[in-house]
Amino acid sequence: MSTSTRRTKIISTLGPSTDDEKILKKLIQSGVNVFRLNFSHGTSQDHINRVKKIRLLEKDLNCFIAIIGDLQGPKIRISSFSMKKIFLKSGDNFLLDLNISKKQGNERSVGINYINLPKEVSCNDILLLDDGKIQLRVLETNMTQIFTEVIIGGYLSDHKGLNKLGGGLSADALTKKDKEDIKLAAMIDVDYLAVSFPRSKTDLKNARLLMKKAGGKAKIIAKIERAEAVASDKIMKDLILESDVIMIARGDLGVEIGDHQLIGVQKKLIKMTNSLNRAVITATQMMESMISNPFPTRAEVMDVANSVLDGTDAVMLSAETASGNFPETTVRTMSKICLGAEKVSCINSFQNRLNKKFNSISETISISAMYAANHFENIAAVVIILTSNKIALFASRIESSVPIFYISNSIKNLRLSALYKGVIPIFLQDIGTYEKSTKVVVQFLKNKKFLKKDDIIVVIKNGKENHSRLVNTCKIINIC
Ligand code: PEP
Repeated sequence: MSTSTRRTKIISTLGPSTDDEKILKKLIQSGVNVFRLNFSHGTSQDHINRVKKIRLLEKDLNCFIAIIGDLQGPKIRISSFSMKKIFLKSGDNFLLDLNISKKQGNERSVGINYINLPKEVSCNDILLLDDGKIQLRVLETNMTQIFTEVIIGGYLSDHKGLNKLGGGLSADALTKKDKEDIKLAAMIDVDYLAVSFPRSKTDLKNARLLMKKAGGKAKIIAKIERAEAVASDKIMKDLILESDVIMIARGDLGVEIGDHQLIGVQKKLIKMTNSLNRAVITATQMMESMISNPFPTRAEVMDVANSVLDGTDAVMLSAETASGNFPETTVRTMSKICLGAEKVSCINSFQNRLNKKFNSISETISISAMYAANHFENIAAVVIILTSNKIALFASRIESSVPIFYISNSIKNLRLSALYKGVIPIFLQDIGTYEKSTKVVVQFLKNKKFLKKDDIIVVIKNGKENHSRLVNTCKIINIC
């Protein structure tokens, strides 16, 4: 199978390892559908240059790539050490101190970047450094200092992240830097804006408002990475409904709730998000060992495959492509794993929504079309013609092995749909009148060898029938 028939989408984070245009091109040819700009690293100019290169390659390779601008958010970090790296021994005391300046840290103490931290932790809280690799127990605090005992030691280097086990730190979701980065994201016209550490729907509303004010049209991704964000079904539902896409940011989330809880939470979030008609990304440490090895561990293979079986739209690579040694091999390997998982038959007969009411004509038509495609033997494709990308989103919420061709003359909508599982975005400038459009599109897809004579397809399109407003219609056609 070619990469274009893979249903699960691949997101690659950009960084120094992908800055060479030839590598970027190979990544797209190997199967990347979406690129992520990580605003935690790099300068504004780095991001501007990367977007320019992607848009040129997109034209060159005649494909549609979505770009995510990922805000840093209020990530709490330690400051830096005079030696760059220190070793903490279990049982030692270690001080986190607001008064220690940059490059003054050592084996006994280090600075921190969040001034409220001493007020927000209490005796016996567990603080996790570097994604939980190092653990500290709080012994005592005052207004500016946190005295701790090292529970699990190890090497610690500059600017590593800090989380509190169980969550509960109240840093605002949008920092001053994030607000500046939203302006940059609007200027470079990213398709999606990822909001880090949102606590409530207000954080997402604020980000959407700032994006709009800056003149951008980006859709909003809620990064689910605080323990509070998954504390109840209601909170999860609120965050999902206020966003266009969610990202299960397993790095921080796993540290806050514990990896053993992450398994159930990932499954629940993917199921909920699909049933609420939003898209979902599974992120972080999917192929971590491939940062320095040309092959994954079997556990990583199973992790990626299980995310596909859970029903994720996309799987995300972070350092594996941004700073890894084998970015292209990693993407190709990930693509192969997704294709393997997609062959498992249980995901092709997904039975969701059988007992649910639909909320709109678009949803009803899209989901009916997918049921027809799944239940009528030998349907070759679902073809969506020039409707809003919402129809493509709705249709892709139903698991299926049938490809969904989304034909549009809106480059923006095609790029957005590059994230949706199973959707193949195709540009067609002129599809003719409502009556003629099916013929034009079918001929176009035949010329491209996507369809052939005698194929049976399900077509969804919109237009005006006699005596009606704009409607969506669904037809089953046997191609002659
Ligand atoms: C994560 O924590 O899993 C994540 C994706 O966030 P970031 O890489 O931005 O820290």
